[in-house]
Amino acid sequence: MNSPFLRSGLEGLSEYSSEPLEGVDLDLRDNINLWGAPPRALAAVRSAASLVLQSYPSVGANGLAEAIAAAAGVGADEVVSGCGSDDVIDACLRAVAAPGTRLAYADPTFSMIPVFARLNGLEPMAVPLLADGSADVDGLLATGARVIYLCSPNNPTGTVTPPSEIRRLVDRAPGIVILDEAYAEFDTGIDWRPSAPSLERVLVTRTFSKAWGLAGLRVGYGVGGRRLVAATARTRGPYRVNALAELAATTALREDAEWMRDVARQAVESRERLVAALQGRANVRAWDSRANFAFLQVDGSAAEVARRFAERGIGVRSFAGLTGVGDAVRIGVAPRESFDRVVAACEELWPCA
Ligand code: PMP
Repeated sequence: MNSPFLRSGLEGLSEYSSEPLEGVDLDLRDNINLWGAPPRALAAVRSAASLVLQSYPSVGANGLAEAIAAAAGVGADEVVSGCGSDDVIDACLRAVAAPGTRLAYADPTFSMIPVFARLNGLEPMAVPLLADGSADVDGLLATGARVIYLCSPNNPTGTVTPPSEIRRLVDRAPGIVILDEAYAEFDTGIDWRPSAPSLERVLVTRTFSKAWGLAGLRVGYGVGGRRLVAATARTRGPYRVNALAELAATTALREDAEWMRDVARQAVESRERLVAALQGRANVRAWDSRANFAFLQVDGSAAEVARRFAERGIGVRSFAGLTGVGDAVRIGVAPRESFDRVVAACEELWPCA
């Protein structure tokens, strides 16, 4: 809405929304962990002392940075955390790019990227994914953008960009590369965290919202060179990870790693089961997702497909007219018992050819 009191140029910016869906009891729209929260972390939050709530947390969540550093094989001063990886990405953009700078990203990708770009006065430049769902490294480089965002496995397609291509991008990029590994815990073997500090111009971001089952507490982090990390921490500001979130994420890393690996393995099983069930069916094509969701390119209207899932009590995310894809739905995975319903719904919606 235009107003003389508001900053201009942000009117058309889409606001993130995820309203509750009526009649839906199995909501698979947000790729969260439906196996639950990490048990030791949950117990720690439940028994938190009064003092934890009364006091400010540490300014930059130093205890959490140490736990992340130990898990990632880097130094604590090579880690910056925030209120979700959203916060870390947003702060990193402010740290590295003055208003007017270009930000190139593979399209389609995480929908907040062009929004964060605009909010920070940057110019977003979408570069279509290649036909196999990997990022077009030459296309990204050809933009000359000083900031490049790449998500692997990518949201919403779930597709991975080969490590050799990521390496080529990093070696040739004129500025900073943000490598978003929000879904790396799911069977991918991808982990650029240990190499990020020596690459200097790379910030690898991760989240506790997906495999770690802590989306409600909002914790994410970045790993990179000391100077980039310190600059990102400065633009992020103090106290962004609250005390309970820090307690939960630190406990999860130290005591729930095996639980996380086990549920991530089950998530992959559910995804593979759904993809196998859709093989050879007409009007739907499952992409090669390596994340905790299936990505289905559909003939006809994705909104209509989502409506038919909702009739069955299942929430899926629909996308209309995605670059190079058209209409598609993204379906997060769930434990076997509840996922039976999803597989059955897919079989009804798309009968065998
Ligand atoms: N990156 C990607 C690719 C995502 O899909 C999401 C959440 N949907 C985020 C970052 C943000 O995650 P959070 O802020 O919950 O850590």
